Amino acid sequence: MKAEIICVGTELLVGDIVNTNSQYISKKFTDTGIDLYYQTTVGDNYERLKECLDIAFNRVDLVITTGGLGPTIDDITKEVVADYFGVELEMIERYYDLIVKRYSERGFFEVASGGEKEASILKGSVLLENEVGLAPGCFFEKNGKKIIILPGPPKEMTPMFDNYVLPLLKQYSSSVLLMKTLEIKGVPEGKIDDRLKDYFQMVNPSVAPYAKEKCVHVRIAVKGKREKEEVLWEKVDKIVDEIKDIYPQATEIK
Ligand code: ATP
Repeated sequence: MKAEIICVGTELLVGDIVNTNSQYISKKFTDTGIDLYYQTTVGDNYERLKECLDIAFNRVDLVITTGGLGPTIDDITKEVVADYFGVELEMIERYYDLIVKRYSERGFFEVASGGEKEASILKGSVLLENEVGLAPGCFFEKNGKKIIILPGPPKEMTPMFDNYVLPLLKQYSSSVLLMKTLEIKGVPEGKIDDRLKDYFQMVNPSVAPYAKEKCVHVRIAVKGKREKEEVLWEKVDKIVDEIKDIYPQATEIK
């Protein structure tokens, strides 16, 4: 299965906020064995988001969106996705009740019209609980196209991803991608290329150098069946040990 992340928010495009959601999801994806092939960022614009969905579903089977689930007029993600798939939104009463409660706690007597939208998910989707914020997420599937809709605030998005999305994704893939990274100081990148060139030509496990400012990172990655995880780690560790023999100063980084 191939996947794409679509982060929705004009704040991201104008550089007001850093896209940590994208980084968080990408890192966690390696654990699912699903190939994450694209990341897209789009502003809070109805037509452009719809166009992004169209492009994404022409090249992947699974899309994860973050952002745009709030009550304001620029929070459009759920409406656009519903429109794209030709389905309605349905309100989840207990989320609406929570929104009403929060409003009254803040001294507002009337819930803004966007409250219903905020408490809604796509009809026919699986609800993904948001235990921190007010907007539920959801997982929707139609004609082999799967979409997971998550809120923007990282403190809401990350527990939802860990608790509900990861277990869901693991059902769709029996593979894992395992990685370790070594940091090697005091050797220029070109020199590392010479000494490790045979490793850099390997396919699975693969070994790849990343030049950093004052060191080189070498990433050893292997993909395989989840049930063979132990054997896969052994393959990675074997290469780690061999590289450490060549460069004793190499240290493993998280
Ligand atoms: P809310 O209900 O709070 O409005 P939302 O799902 O509508 O949430 P957005 O309005 O798109 O989300 O974003 C709310 C806030 O979440 C942003 O101001 C920003 O602080 C944070 N945020 C959104 N997207 C990202 C992202 N990709 N990476 C990091 N932070 C983000």
